Amino acid sequence: MAIHENNGCPNRELMNAFVERTLPPETAGDVAMHVSHCERCRTGMRELVLVKAQEKVRERWTSIREVFAPRREYLAAADGQTADQLQHDAAVRSGFIHFTAHLDENDADFWHVKLALPTVITNKSRLRLQVLGKNEQRIERGELVFCGAKMPVEQGRASMLVSEFRAYIKNPENSMISFRRATGREIEGIPVLAYDMQR
Ligand SMILES: [Zn+2]
Repeated sequence: MAIHENNGCPNRELMNAFVERTLPPETAGDVAMHVSHCERCRTGMRELVLVKAQEKVRERWTSIREVFAPRREYLAAADGQTADQLQHDAAVRSGFIHFTAHLDENDADFWHVKLALPTVITNKSRLRLQVLGKNEQRIERGELVFCGAKMPVEQGRASMLVSEFRAYIKNPENSMISFRRATGREIEGIPVLAYDMQR
């Protein structure tokens, strides 16, 4: 089949199929071999991989936005509604929504929560959150209260079924996010969607 352009480089379709891993092994091997010694195709491949990854995360963003629909303000900044589009792009790039304690980063009780954007959301999916402290060290134990839903933190992780979470997010009385350490100190947080990007 005509897989090569005039200059011997794989065409766009083939590159696409390679990145999506839908090529038969032999053809994939040929493409990999070519790319390994063609600077032009290496650059093209890198760009393609990045674009594909962003598409995937953008789909995830769409699904998480639906869960937060009753309290749009929680994601407004991330959604490019109130803050600048950069924050939304950062969330889309990193695949996470970030929240941090409303505290100085050097405070011993500073925390940072990462909510992973799920691929597809159904009522049986789980929202998964990581709870990190200073220097991105996981916080072993505590209690995360996210939109009113109380989640125990074990080994730096908390999770909840989307079906359960939906009941909490509907209640306008519930505050956004706070974390209570094992020591009992509870600190409220705010969304900071470009957290990782600033480092
Ligand atoms: Zn090439």
